[in-house]
Amino acid sequence: MDEMTTDDRPHKAVLIPGDGIGPEVTKAVVRVLDAAAAPIVWSEKQAGLAALDAGGGEVLPDDTVEAVERAGVALKGPCTTPVGKGFQSVNVQLRKRLNMYAAVRPVRSLEGVPTRFRDVDIVIIRENTEGLYSGAENRVTDDVVISMKVATDSACKRISRWAFRYATQRARRKVTVFHKANIMKMSDGLFLDAAALAHERDYPNIEFQQMIIDAGCMKLVQDPTQFDVLLLENLYGDVVSDLCAGLVGGLGVVPGANIGDNCAVFEAVHGSAPDIAGKNVANPLALLMSAVMMLNYIGSERSDPRATDSARRIKVAYDLALKDDQKTGDLGGSLSTDAFAEAVIERL
Ligand code: ATP
Repeated sequence: MDEMTTDDRPHKAVLIPGDGIGPEVTKAVVRVLDAAAAPIVWSEKQAGLAALDAGGGEVLPDDTVEAVERAGVALKGPCTTPVGKGFQSVNVQLRKRLNMYAAVRPVRSLEGVPTRFRDVDIVIIRENTEGLYSGAENRVTDDVVISMKVATDSACKRISRWAFRYATQRARRKVTVFHKANIMKMSDGLFLDAAALAHERDYPNIEFQQMIIDAGCMKLVQDPTQFDVLLLENLYGDVVSDLCAGLVGGLGVVPGANIGDNCAVFEAVHGSAPDIAGKNVANPLALLMSAVMMLNYIGSERSDPRATDSARRIKVAYDLALKDDQKTGDLGGSLSTDAFAEAVIERL
């Protein structure tokens, strides 16, 4: 056999199957990527309950974090963190340890998935490292606990610049910040000021809009097509992501990426959905879309047209499958997880 040239080599990516529906949906997605000849070689690592079960005593083993650092990219299933046992959330830890400060969640209407609105095309950009996710909680007295919302000028400015740069690169026209600076004058005020500064100083050509989050949510459910890029601090980003998922068909169809300067981890917005785990009924599409984002990221970061090309083919195939009414139960269909993957593979 001919020796591989550098250009023929596949990219290393870490695969974290996770918990609940994670192993089923990751298996389905890997099958589709293999069938599309995506230039990826996987290294499987554990996190969440799966890591505890493997006996390491940690929900996020160092070995997993180091593997992601080395590979630079990972595809991750949802992970469960046991409650009340002193473990910090796997997702929060991973984002902090790898300094993946931007979460990106594209929310788009899909042909073949009828919903109240058509033409929804929003990208949520969520600050991923601070806010109420700082985990700084204290019991002050028997009656009082305090949770601290952390906002730093540097992190607010970093995510604001990132959001406007993203908007510019993707030819988006507007960035809207949701905030509650009327109540949290200092923390949300800092976030809002940072976004306004990024717009004024560096990105005046992108329209900038700010809205108090409660009013913003009302407008989202009245007419989501008025929004383009949404920029939110950590907790608001978490909540509004699920709200937006509901506008386009639910948690089964919204992908995501956590991106830092050196690493990116791609994962669906949904959690481990224990109610349907192990039944082969979960929708693998959100994770498949996340894998497409991963391939596009590799394609542009490493200038590899093979990755971009396989991403495009997979997207065309899943769009076709949905149009042909090939759907899992959450979208009103009756296909199993595996059968949906098969329907996509047939259309590659
Ligand atoms: P977490 O706290 O881990 O974020 P969550 O409370 O947001 O989790 P999820 O696990 O994301 O909850 O899911 C909520 C419900 O949505 C699930 O119980 C399940 O019924 C449904 N659901 C989530 N993901 C999927 C999927 N991929 N396919 C089908 N249904 C799903």
